Amino acid sequence: MAALCIFCSRRVNTEEHLWPKWLVNYVVQERSSKIDMEFATRPRKLFSGKYVTCRCVCKKCNGGWMSTLETGTRPILEPLIFDSSLPLDYIQQLALCLWTTKTAMVFDCVGGKAHFYSTADRQHLLTWGTPPPDSLIWIGRYENSYSLFVENHYLSNPGTENVLSEGCVTTFAMGRLVIQIFSARRGIYGEGRGGINVARKKGEWDRLLIQIWPVQQQVVRWPPPLSFGPSEEQLKEFAQRIGGER
Ligand SMILES: [Zn+2]
Repeated sequence: MAALCIFCSRRVNTEEHLWPKWLVNYVVQERSSKIDMEFATRPRKLFSGKYVTCRCVCKKCNGGWMSTLETGTRPILEPLIFDSSLPLDYIQQLALCLWTTKTAMVFDCVGGKAHFYSTADRQHLLTWGTPPPDSLIWIGRYENSYSLFVENHYLSNPGTENVLSEGCVTTFAMGRLVIQIFSARRGIYGEGRGGINVARKKGEWDRLLIQIWPVQQQVVRWPPPLSFGPSEEQLKEFAQRIGGER
């Protein structure tokens, strides 16, 4: 059976770049590139190439709304990737959130079918123009300017007494910018209950990160007081911070 576009169910007939070409060219330049991709349920992959692609969308989506989103987000991403100090208003924070959600949904499908995000989650993004319910997004600064990193993992919280039953954490690093999106799914007990509250490992997260979804402040000032790095270990700890101690 032909693969179907994860956003509109038309036939897949193009390749989507996980990171857009302009972004990879800026960050990687002419150096040889190795991208460490860690997947929740599949073997880790050290990708030796520049452009990570995924056959999971159709031409109409790729050249239509996804291209518009990419073009609109580029002027916001660029200064963050290159480390310029600047304010981010509500519209800019929202654009970053949509881009992050779309990219996490595509990464969820790299090398196979979607593992966490559902058709309903993707429809929510398209219809309402916001991340799916019970999603949180943060941005932070990384000291290493030459970085392309992506990791995702899933959380499960079995038992009917828990508000959350499943979660997915996806962490990206692109130049100086790191972004993390956490999406949760509620169990039966969690329906109609208040905000999501998950265990996090200890860290100075409030000073390292700025929460951009749900938007908390109309204008935030970039960068945050503290930065990650320079070791990649800090980035990996950050990627694994949600879900408590193991
Ligand atoms: Zn499509």
